[in-house]
Amino acid sequence: MSKHLKQMENIRDILYRFYDLESQHIKAMVGEVNLNYRVRCESGSYVFKSSPHSSPAETALSQEECRILENLSKKMPGNFQEPVPASDGRLQVEDKEAGRIYRLFRYIPGKLLAESEHTSQLLSSFGEVLALMDLALIPLEMQASRARRYHWDNTHFDLAYQYAHFVRPASLRKLIDYFHMKFHEEVVPSLPRLRHSLIHGDANDYNVLVEKERVKAILDFGDAVYSPLINEVAIALAYILCGKDDPLAWAAPLLKSYTEILPLNEEEIELLYYLVGTRISISLCHSARGRSEQPGNDYLGISEKAFVKLLQKWMEIGPVAASRAFRHAAGLPLPPILPLEEDREKRSSYLGENLSLSYKTPIRMRAAAFQFMYDDRGNSFLDMRNNIPHVGHNHPRVVRAGQKAMARLNTNTRYLYDEIRDYSETLLAKFPKKLNKVFYVNSGSAASDLALRLARTHTGREKMLVMEHGYHGNTAAAIEVSHYKFAGKGGKGLPASTLVAGIPSSGNPLPDLDAETRKASGEIAAFITEPIVSAAGGIVIEKEYMHKLYAFTREQGGVCISDEVQTGFGRPGKYFWGFEYTGLIPDIVILSKPIANGHPMAAVVCTNEIAEAFNNGMEFFSSFGGNPVSCAIGQAVLEVIAEEELDRNAADTGAYLIKLFEDFRKGCPYIGEIRGMGLSLGVEIVKNGPGSAPAPELADRWVNALREKNILLGTDGPHDNVLKIKPPLCFTKADADRFIRELRNLV
Ligand code: PMP
Repeated sequence: MSKHLKQMENIRDILYRFYDLESQHIKAMVGEVNLNYRVRCESGSYVFKSSPHSSPAETALSQEECRILENLSKKMPGNFQEPVPASDGRLQVEDKEAGRIYRLFRYIPGKLLAESEHTSQLLSSFGEVLALMDLALIPLEMQASRARRYHWDNTHFDLAYQYAHFVRPASLRKLIDYFHMKFHEEVVPSLPRLRHSLIHGDANDYNVLVEKERVKAILDFGDAVYSPLINEVAIALAYILCGKDDPLAWAAPLLKSYTEILPLNEEEIELLYYLVGTRISISLCHSARGRSEQPGNDYLGISEKAFVKLLQKWMEIGPVAASRAFRHAAGLPLPPILPLEEDREKRSSYLGENLSLSYKTPIRMRAAAFQFMYDDRGNSFLDMRNNIPHVGHNHPRVVRAGQKAMARLNTNTRYLYDEIRDYSETLLAKFPKKLNKVFYVNSGSAASDLALRLARTHTGREKMLVMEHGYHGNTAAAIEVSHYKFAGKGGKGLPASTLVAGIPSSGNPLPDLDAETRKASGEIAAFITEPIVSAAGGIVIEKEYMHKLYAFTREQGGVCISDEVQTGFGRPGKYFWGFEYTGLIPDIVILSKPIANGHPMAAVVCTNEIAEAFNNGMEFFSSFGGNPVSCAIGQAVLEVIAEEELDRNAADTGAYLIKLFEDFRKGCPYIGEIRGMGLSLGVEIVKNGPGSAPAPELADRWVNALREKNILLGTDGPHDNVLKIKPPLCFTKADADRFIRELRNLV
C-alpha cells in the first residue's frame, strides 16, 4: 500500500475510533505545521486537524482555539468552523501513543478572500464580520492566549526583528529598520493605554472565506493572542492592501464598516499606519529567516514580493496621509490645519524677512522618510533637491546612532573618547594619504572659515583666489570668498583680499587669469572652489582649467582648497569626493551637509604640514565640533553609504536620469545643457534649444508646477534658470521615471 493510502487509512481509523465517524472521502489540505484533511461523511463535511503533541503551552493553546470557536459559533452561527467533540465529549483528543493531537471542525464551503476579486462591497463586508467577531471575542477570557508571547504578535515586533539581519537587499532592510524605529517611537509609548483584547491575530485573506460578494467565515484561530484590538485591523489591512495601487482608498471600506460596529478611538487610528508597517515588517523578517535556512535560495516568494512593494508604497504614502484617510473612514474628525498665510505672517514676526520660503505656495512639513517628505495636509513629496539628508531623511541607522550616543556621552575634544577616534580613522581612510588631519566644527560656513584660517596661517598671506559664482558660507570671512554673495544683491563688491577666477562656460574657450590675479602672484594664500560649482548652476569645472588654477596657486606657494560641502560622500557616483575627477589632490578639504545627514556637523581635512603650521600657540577649540554624538552619526552615515552602495546608486541612477533628460530634450526646445555627474545634476532651462537665452520664468513655473505634483526641486545659477537636482542618494530609477513623466506633462 502506498504511503499516502496508508495515511488516509490511518485517519479513517482515527475518525472512527475517536469520533465514531464513517468517512467516505478524505483529502489532504495545505497546512504549515499541522496536517489538515477535509473529510466527507454522511453527516456532512469536516476539517480534521492532526498536530504534533508539543509543549503543554501549545496544547493549552490549541484547546483554547477550540473553545474560542465553540463560543464564536454559538454567537455567530455559520461564520466560524464549529468544533465537533469526540465521542467522549472532548474538543481535543490527545493521542499519546501517536504523539499527536486531533481536532475536528465543521467544514465551511466558500472561496478564499485571497482568490476572490476585491470590491469595496466585499471589503466592507469583511470589516463587518471582523468587527462582529471582535465584539464576540472581547468578553472571552483565555488563559493560555493571555500568557502567549508570540513572534507574530505586532506587540512583540522585537521577537521578529532579531531576524532582520537576514533581510536583503539593504534597501529593503532599511525600510524594516525604519518601521521598527517608528514602532518604538510611536507605538510602544501608547501600548499601556491601548485597549487590549483577545484577537484572531491573523485575519489574512487566506483565512477568510467569501460567498456571493460577502465574507462568510473567518478561519484558523491558531494565532489568537491578547493584543491591542487595533492590531486585528492592522493585520487584516496589511494583507488586503497588497497589490493595490491606492491602498488608502482600499482601506476605507473595511475601516468604515468595522468602526460602524466597533468604533476605534483616535489613538488607535493614529497608530494604524505604523502597525500595518509593523505587520509587513514582521512577516518579511520571518520569511527572510526562513529563506536563510535554505542556502542558495535568494528568491522572494510571491507574497513576500507583494509585501515589499506595499512596504515601499506605505513609506511613500507616509503617516499623515494615512492618518487623514483612516480618520475619515472611521468617522473621526480631521485635525485642524493652520492656514498657510496665518503661519507665514507669524513667522515674519520672529524671523528676518531675508530667510526665504520655497514655492509660491509654501509647504508646512510634518515628517519625512528617505526620499519622501510629508506635509500637514497629507501630501507626500518626492525630495529631489535636498542633499543634506544624504542617505535618506530620518535614516533609522543614523537616527539610532545619534539617539544612542546622546544617551551615553556628549562631551568635547578636551577628553579622549572612542567615537572621535573611530570616526576620524574611518573618514581619513576615504582620502588620499597626504590628507591625514581633521578638524571638526558645526557648519559648512564654520568649516570654510577655518579652512581660510588654516591657509592663511600656513602661508602667512591674506589673498584668496576664488571661483566666479562660488559660495562657501555665511560667516564674514566666507562671504568674502563667495563671489555669489559679495557680487550679488546686497553684496559689498569685491573685497580687497579677494581675486576672482572666471568660470568656464560650455562651448567657450577656457577663461584666462585676469591681470589683477596674475599681478598678485606670490601673495595668494589659497585658491578655493567647489569641483562642481553649485551656485553657478552646477557647472563642473573642466579638468584642464582646474589643473591650471592649482598649478598657478601652488607655483607661488599657495594652497588649494576643495569645498566638498555639496559634492562629497559619493554624490558624484563614480567618485567619493568631487575633486577626484580632476586627478588633483587638494591641500585642504571642506566637508559638511551630507556628513551627518542633517545633524549639524562639519569638518576640515588637511595635510599634516598645514595642521602643524596652524599649531602656532593659539588653541583651536570648537564647543560642539567632533563631539561623540556627531562622530557616531557621521560613522553611521559612512556605514550606510557602504552598505546600501549609495555611491553606486548615484552613478547608475544619475546616468539613467541624464539619459531620460537627453531623450526629453529631443522633443523639447526648453532643455539646454544637462550638467553634472552622479546625483549632482543641473539642467538648464532655455528659450529655444541649447545655447539659447536662459528662461528663468519657465524654470520657476516648472518648479512650482512640480511642487503641485508633489515633486520638490529648486533652481540655481546666476540666471536662476538651472534645475538643481540633488536628491538623497536613495533616489531610485522609478523616482526618476516619475519625475520625467510629470515634467513631460508640463510641456
Ligand atoms: N559651501 C558650500 C559649497 C555650500 O553649498 C554651503 C551651504 N549652502 C556652505 C559652504 C555653507 O554651509 P552651511 O550652510 O552649513 O554653513
